[in-house]
Amino acid sequence: MQIQALFFDLDGTLYPNGVGIWNAISEKMNIFMNQELGIPIDQVPNVREGFFHKYGTTLRGLQNHYDIDPADYLNYVHNIPVNEILKPDNRLRNLLVQDKSRKWILTNSDRDHSGRVLEALGIRDQFEGIVDVWATDFKPKPAPHFFETAMRTAGLSDPNSIIFFDDISKNVLGGKEFGFVSVYVGEGTIAEGIDHQIMTIHDFQKIKKDVLSPSE
Ligand SMILES: [Mg+2]
Repeated sequence: MQIQALFFDLDGTLYPNGVGIWNAISEKMNIFMNQELGIPIDQVPNVREGFFHKYGTTLRGLQNHYDIDPADYLNYVHNIPVNEILKPDNRLRNLLVQDKSRKWILTNSDRDHSGRVLEALGIRDQFEGIVDVWATDFKPKPAPHFFETAMRTAGLSDPNSIIFFDDISKNVLGGKEFGFVSVYVGEGTIAEGIDHQIMTIHDFQKIKKDVLSPSE
């Protein structure tokens, strides 16, 4: 099997969940919804939970239920000290440099935040491009529209030739349904239907070597 490209989610995939980025963004989301939209603070978690399950992201829910400017929201919630939280990952950088596959970022966040994260990790130059919520009309992963946009943007046509890494089960399952070789990145028990798991992104080449080309 020929692998044409590697598609990587950003947050929680290229660095471990739990380092504090998500908590910082999440806190900003709560404050935005309370202060800018007037949602009582004790109701915010429930509203967000509902949006996440129904629409895939809090932003998509807010767009459907409140008259918000996505740029305002994205700037607000991503205004966090990424550089203080994330440090350069030289090991990951070396692995990416060694791997000659084409590489893209597919993120439900935005390109400015993605750029800051990649910069902080020291791997920004290792990716051909970023497919974000602006590029996909705010239809987040796992919508087929998102994956189609990514394929078109990267100039690729065969989903079976792409390995897709993500730390959210429903994105991994959506990617699999779309035709990607889809990999869950993270520890713990994986959801039913997920075929591949790596504990850390540093193992991304294992999928290529062990599963796709066992003779190599
Ligand atoms: Mg993620």
